[in-house]
Amino acid sequence: MEINEYRKKELANLAEFISTDYCPTGKILPEFIAEQSGITYNYGEYGDCFDGLLEHDSGDFHVYLNTQSILSSDNNRLRFSFAHELGHYFIDDHRNALMKGKSLHKSYYRFLRKNLVETEADYFASNLLMPIGRFKKCAQQNRKFDFSVIEYLSKEFGTSLSATLLRFIEVNTYPIMVVFSKSNTIERYWSSVDFPFKYFLEHSSKRLPPLTVAGDYFNHGIKCEDTESVDASEWFSSYSDIRGVKLYEKCIYPTFNNTVISVIWLN
Ligand SMILES: [Zn+2]
Repeated sequence: MEINEYRKKELANLAEFISTDYCPTGKILPEFIAEQSGITYNYGEYGDCFDGLLEHDSGDFHVYLNTQSILSSDNNRLRFSFAHELGHYFIDDHRNALMKGKSLHKSYYRFLRKNLVETEADYFASNLLMPIGRFKKCAQQNRKFDFSVIEYLSKEFGTSLSATLLRFIEVNTYPIMVVFSKSNTIERYWSSVDFPFKYFLEHSSKRLPPLTVAGDYFNHGIKCEDTESVDASEWFSSYSDIRGVKLYEKCIYPTFNNTVISVIWLN
């Protein structure tokens, strides 16, 4: 479910205000923001039923963070879950619903969400951890794009590669596309406004084009750790003649649910 532009702006402003207020420089620290706001929290092992949970009890708020569903080594994902729960606290509608005794959610992995409340909290989290001004400034240090830019930003902001990629697309720094595929099928994709290709080779069936780096993985089990050069015509169809047009593709291999992430940009 998509959030409308007006609401996006509202959530982004709210998140930006909070990050600037509590963490004006350096990495955004969800724990610090929680402490300063009188929210208690703890880390624990709670099976695999949620990543994070915000609980309300007579005016007190508590965040549970699950180190079992999230590998404790994946600190970036925990930070995102924490920021997501803070979203449920700072977004008025969410907090009011909680205070009325409504349960918001169980916070599962975020890219396959259908629920608007969850999408809003994710959007808040992304804006909180990667405030637009700071993120843009950092992203624009290199004029030329390659995957190391994403790795650098991910380290700098303490966010996962996938969260960083989506934010990078959103601030529209450089024309790239990100494709999530699973079992040889394109599940979701995002591209910056000026990315020149819109239609996949088999756009209606969503079948992953076979002669791509991601296709190599699903068809032959081949993993490429490096960035590879691919023909644009292997990924996309176009009304204009794209023979000879080259793209770069960098794959991030099975992250969750056997999903492969392809990052595609112009050569
Ligand atoms: Zn949630």
